[in-house]
This record gives sequence, C-alpha cells and structure tokens, in this order.
Amino acid sequence: MYTATAGIVLPTTIIGSLPRPAWYTENLGRRDFREAMVDRFFREQYLDACSAYLRDQETAGIDIVTDGDCRFDADVGGHNWFSYPALRMDGFAGAHAYRTQGGRAGMAHKRGHILHDILEARVMPDLVGPVGRGTLHYTAVWKAAQRLTPRPVKFGTITPELVAMAVRDLHYKDIRKAIMAVSDALNEELTELANAGCPVIQMEETQIHLLAAKGLADKVLNPEFMVEVFNNTVRGLRGKTEIWCHTCWGNPAGQRIFDFQPSYLPAIPHLNRVDADVVTFETCSTGGAELEAICRGVADGKKVAIGVVDHHILQVETPAQVADIIRRALKHLPPERLVVSTDCGMGREGMSRRHAFHKMVSIVQGTNIVRRELGLPEAACLAADDRFSMVEDH
Ligand SMILES: [Zn+2]
Repeated sequence: MYTATAGIVLPTTIIGSLPRPAWYTENLGRRDFREAMVDRFFREQYLDACSAYLRDQETAGIDIVTDGDCRFDADVGGHNWFSYPALRMDGFAGAHAYRTQGGRAGMAHKRGHILHDILEARVMPDLVGPVGRGTLHYTAVWKAAQRLTPRPVKFGTITPELVAMAVRDLHYKDIRKAIMAVSDALNEELTELANAGCPVIQMEETQIHLLAAKGLADKVLNPEFMVEVFNNTVRGLRGKTEIWCHTCWGNPAGQRIFDFQPSYLPAIPHLNRVDADVVTFETCSTGGAELEAICRGVADGKKVAIGVVDHHILQVETPAQVADIIRRALKHLPPERLVVSTDCGMGREGMSRRHAFHKMVSIVQGTNIVRRELGLPEAACLAADDRFSMVEDH
C-alpha cells in the first residue's frame, strides 16, 4: 500500500547508498549490528555518518530518504551489499573465493578489468545448513536512522536470489531450493521490519530484468521464477507497508556491468507481476531511451520511479536536464504515478560525497521546475537558497 509516497506528487528520493565520509573508518566486519552498537567508537561513527547522510538529503530537499547504506563496510566495490546477509544469516559459514564456486551472480571479467577486482573481492561464506534470519537486525538498522529524521526512511535489501547465487551451496545442492530458503528467511525479517513501522521497503536488484536482458535464462533460473521469488519474499507485506522493486544495470565501483546497452522491454511484462507498489528504472544513463515504453508498459496499479541522475558519471546533471526527463515521462504517465530518483545508489566506491550531494540538489531543483509548471507545491532546497551564499558581490 502507498505509505511513503502517499500524498506527495512527484516525490523525490535516491536509490540507497551514498559515498562514505573519509573519517568513517569503523566497519562491522563479521560482527552483527546490535553487538557493534555496544562498541562506543563504532556507535559514534555510525550515528555521525548516518546523520550526515540524512542531513545531506534534507538540505537538498529529498522527500523519501535513506540511511545511505550506512551498515556496509568500506570494501572493494561495495561488496558488503552482497555479503552482509550471508555473513549474518543462519546456515552460512566459512569464507570462499567466488571464482572457484561456479556462482552465477555477476559477470565474468578478465584480469585487468576493474570488475575483475570486484570478483576477486567476492569472498563469501558457504551455504552449509538450513537458512534462518540469524542476526540481520534490519529493524534495528532502520530504527537507528528513522529516529534521526521526521522524513520517511526507505530501507533497502539485496534480493534473496543474489544472496544464494553468490555462494557455494553445500547444503541444499539445488539453487532454487537455496533461493527460496533465503526468501522465506528474508520474509520473516521484513515482516518484523514492516510491523515496526518502516514506511517503505525496497528489494534491490531482482534478477528479472537481468536474466531477461542477458539471454542467460534457462529452465532453472529465469524471469518467471524470479517473479515467484519476489512475491514470496514480500508476501503479506503490502498490507503493512509500501514495497518497491529496484532494477538497474550495475553499480559496483560506479561501473556498468554490461559492455552493451541492455533493454528493459523483455522484462516489463514480468515486472508487472511483482507484488510491488513502485518499480524503479535506470533511465538517466540511457538518455531516457526507453521512457515511453516503460511509462506506458508498467501496469496502472504501480508507480514508476525514474532515474534522473546517473550514478556512473561525475558530471552533475543540471536542474534543466532533470526537468526534461520528468517532462518526457509525464507525456505517458500522470504525475500521481511518477517518482523521481537516481538510477542506482551513488556509494559503493563510486563518486565523492560532494558529487552525490550536488546530484541530489539537482534532483530537487529539477523536480521543483516541473512542480512549478504544474502548480504543485515545491520542496524547500536549503542548498540552493541564494540568501546563504558566501560569495560576495564587488
Ligand atoms: Zn541498482
């Protein structure tokens, strides 16, 4: 159900991660979040970093904020987005290098390519027993951020298929069973999170669009099965909170994972079957190439979140460019069904904090241009308020 986006026309948000402050040097490592929050050095840095992420979004004027993926360690290419669940859920143990596992998550890149470094850094536990929630502590992580801001905090999690596809399965010995076991455990975790009042939960990177686009789908792993997985993971949740389905074309170290431009078109009929209120699309990096097909293709009962800034590039999009993408989407979709976002997270060893900040300012300024044209209320953007400029006229 619509909670976070209810009552806001053209709400602005970011997908999730933000660049880490250089002074945020503490890491969770293999500790769980509640245990680490007893450590006063970790606790202070974590809460300061989380506050900085939230404050930057508030100063820009973003409506639906995130904790910047504050729980993840400072590692190569933001690997912890992959490994956080496997390091904490029941059923996983040890540490194993990715390339020897025959895992199916990620793309093979040869040594010398920056994405080869990402694969080398993918040292994951093995799946050795029945999967359980373990010490994910998603509710505590969300509460730690939500109590720092009155704005709705969106909580994002990696999808179960990617957790299972990135490890060596020594227990189920059946990739579908392993994925569904992680999915069931995540459903329990997310049910607790929704019951605690989290206003919006985002499932990050369903493999639906990737399998459809890569042409790698087979009888075992294919878009149809991934829709089943998605709907199993969020079962019962839409009656309690707002569910988002995030899709993009790659993020680690700010890299595109394809050497060609994949298309969303084969995935749209499948995405219409996911039990989600909002589906997000990477539309800025493609120059809005498939905007019409996306906006016309997504079923009426769902909102569409479009990316208006690109997480791969340092050039900050101008408010005029942001407004242009929004206007193009609004030719095919009423404003009540459109959400304005980034293509993907801006952290994970990508750009600097200042680049990310100014991209968020552009999102709000660009959305305000369109809001003005439509007679809608504008968001306050302190960051762009000229009264507080320190530049002096001569
Ligand atoms: Zn993404």
